[in-house]
Amino acid sequence: MARIVVVGGGIAGTAAALALHKAGHGPVVHEAHPDTGEDIGAFMTLASNGMRALAGFDAERAVAGVGFDVTAMNVLDARGAELASVPLGEVERPLARYRCLRRAELGAVLQREVRRRGIPLRHGARLTSVTETEEEVTAHFADGSSAAGDLLVGADGLHSAVRGWLEPGGAGPEYAGQRVFYGYSTAAAPPVAGPGLITMVRGSEAAFGYLVSPAGRTFWFARVAAPPVGTEERVRTAPAQWRAWLEPLLRPDRTPCADIVAGTGEELMVTNALHLPAGNRWRSRRVVLIGDAAHAASPATGQGASMALEDAVVLAKALRDAPSAEAALAAYEDHRRPRTDLNTATSARLTASRAPAGSGPQDGPPPEDSARPSTRPDEALLRLLDWDTPLPLREPGA
Ligand SMILES: Cc1cc2nc3c(=O)[nH]c(=O)nc-3n(C[C@H](O)[C@H](O)[C@H](O)COP(=O)(O)OP(=O)(O)OC[C@H]3O[C@@H](n4cnc5c(N)ncnc54)[C@H](O)[C@@H]3O)c2cc1C
Repeated sequence: MARIVVVGGGIAGTAAALALHKAGHGPVVHEAHPDTGEDIGAFMTLASNGMRALAGFDAERAVAGVGFDVTAMNVLDARGAELASVPLGEVERPLARYRCLRRAELGAVLQREVRRRGIPLRHGARLTSVTETEEEVTAHFADGSSAAGDLLVGADGLHSAVRGWLEPGGAGPEYAGQRVFYGYSTAAAPPVAGPGLITMVRGSEAAFGYLVSPAGRTFWFARVAAPPVGTEERVRTAPAQWRAWLEPLLRPDRTPCADIVAGTGEELMVTNALHLPAGNRWRSRRVVLIGDAAHAASPATGQGASMALEDAVVLAKALRDAPSAEAALAAYEDHRRPRTDLNTATSARLTASRAPAGSGPQDGPPPEDSARPSTRPDEALLRLLDWDTPLPLREPGA
């Protein structure tokens, strides 16, 4: 059993802890936040591949207990004309359906699952530096404490300190060119929306998406090409001011988007779409990055969390099946880098083209290319995520 220091108790870190524990290892999670609660409150969609990854470490039922199913997608143009109406993901398999949930809910469910399985999770532990020797790796925290292990998993997100240690002076996150707005509208549900349907709108000034929850609230997002929102601007701008900024961009279109925004109260948030340039270093002998720390994409494909969950399964399987930890980390990177690079590039392209969010690379081309995301799962991916299927390993010397 390897002692594994997991830095970051977000989606990637908790998922890795669950998968590594299942593989017979001893993970301990160290999370910077002093409590479980911090989140801006934005919602997200978890795709079928993310639900399949959760099944790899037996957490799909727990996650299916929060949020709601999303089973179909409509695409509208700026005139409100329907361009496509398609099923989304693995509709026939209830535990593998797309889900809409708040990011904080997913984090909380996974943290609860970590605790339920007896995996130590420490809050208030902010990593500041790492030391690695032939024998072990040690994480040092801001409160003066440290934790040693055989392996350190850097799951500390977009602004990863572990990544900074692995590659001092390496490229950090970049602005992807869009502001992303999220809101929960109390206006009457838009006419075309129904339970389980996500509507994507190719607006003239914004890519817009909305869903109606079973409780009748409209969850929406908008992606708008504009200069990044500065920290000060974010602090001093009230939701009503953002509404006033966004609504005129949507009003000329013949879609429900402007009314949805107008019907939103205080629950309106804005953030910048950021991504990490490809090609950064992912690992040393005893340190490996997963999730956004390794490969943050802008949110357009809606795949960041699912990619983090996939990472967790593949890393745990690699450590279970490879002849050495070094070979395991190499196998993990071999399997993950091409797929996450594709997701980052696809998301950047969608962001640049202002197309609506859609399916990720697991479902074939995104909707702006085909308007027909397949519901058929990719067999190779299913094998990769299936816990009982051995991970294909490179031949020695290959
Ligand atoms: C606005 C927005 C919308 C999104 N929508 C979607 C979506 O619809 N679907 C989807 O799949 N993905 C979406 N994503 C992406 C998704 O949220 C991320 O890809 C996912 O959260 C990555 O998980 P992570 O665990 O790698 O990083 P995070 O969730 O950021 O977790 C990192 C954790 O590490 C902790 N940490 C940071 N630094 C340290 C340190 N020094 N020491 C210890 N702990 C530390 C943090 O507190 C945090 O808990 C969205 C992202 C954004 C910003």
